[in-house]
Amino acid sequence: MMMLPAAPSRPAAAETAAAERRLVAMGTTLDLRVEASDRPAALRASEEAVAEIARIENLLSTWKPGGALDRLNRSCPGERVAVGREAANLLADVEAWSARTDGAFDPTVLPLVRAWGLRGEGRIPSDLERRRAIAAVGARHFRIDPETGAAARLSLAAGIDEGAWGKGYALDAAAARLRKAGVSEALLDLGGQLFVLGHRDVSIADPSNRGRAAASLSLTDASLSTSGNSERGRTVKGQRVGHLLNPRSGRPAPDFGSATAIASSGLVADILSTAFFVLGPEKGLALSERLRRAGFPNKALFLVRRGDHLEATSSPGLQFQLEGFSR
Ligand code: ADP
Ligand code: MG
Repeated sequence: MMMLPAAPSRPAAAETAAAERRLVAMGTTLDLRVEASDRPAALRASEEAVAEIARIENLLSTWKPGGALDRLNRSCPGERVAVGREAANLLADVEAWSARTDGAFDPTVLPLVRAWGLRGEGRIPSDLERRRAIAAVGARHFRIDPETGAAARLSLAAGIDEGAWGKGYALDAAAARLRKAGVSEALLDLGGQLFVLGHRDVSIADPSNRGRAAASLSLTDASLSTSGNSERGRTVKGQRVGHLLNPRSGRPAPDFGSATAIASSGLVADILSTAFFVLGPEKGLALSERLRRAGFPNKALFLVRRGDHLEATSSPGLQFQLEGFSR
């Protein structure tokens, strides 16, 4: 009897369709690519993800009035503010990350952001202003009650800044929506912070030239966040003022290049890239390692300027390629 030819061992790829969107969200560009069984499904899922990011922006933004954090930042000392359970839980969570990063990341950094004029044209604070701002930073200036969804700010100078973690949380929320809609392949890019569903090769920008890719690596169901000074800093009287502040010294962290964090959560990647930048390569890698041992999986990659080239240091086992350099 003649054998029938064996069926192809790999079934033909299931038909998929993609939806792509680009829009402005959270003060930056959101690029979205969602794959689903057909185009209407891809479009529907991408709409849900976009709506979720808009919802988080309204909740967390301290750049426009009315959101939970904005109301907290404007409240009278001791006044109980109903921020809602989601925001209260999130605030408790990000505060916990401040302790886990030895204070290198601190969501209560707003007094220092103001002292350095980082929401405007930039300025150099006097020593007294800087010391006052340092004193106004810290979890002790807030009372947060996740149970009731209430929060209070305890001193007039204190304030929450969502800049280093809000986009990461928005990515998590959007990715959760996509998963719920049955999507398993997607790329979300929110101002350079990425969330990948499925598997994808991505690149990290050159810290001196954001238009140029300096490194590339593969991500699977993970978020990647890079912190660096790039064009977000300010120049005051010829002096460069970086937008990433060391809450301890009350000064901009030294600019060595960029810090990238990879984690399964966008929130954690966002928080850690900021903390890693503030700590610098050596202490940053040590923190990354310590967190892994403490049960918080993450990877770190530092791109350090050395004269006219970049040097990379990373967590052990992280696979990546440097563009134009051989390692
Ligand atoms: P990007 O804004 O480029 O995504 P980050 O995620 O690192 O970079 O966030 C930087 C922003 O976070 C700053 O613009 C500022 O508002 C705020 N910030 C600065 N320093 C700190 C810090 N040490 N901890 C928490 N937030 C910070
Ligand atoms: Mg960040």
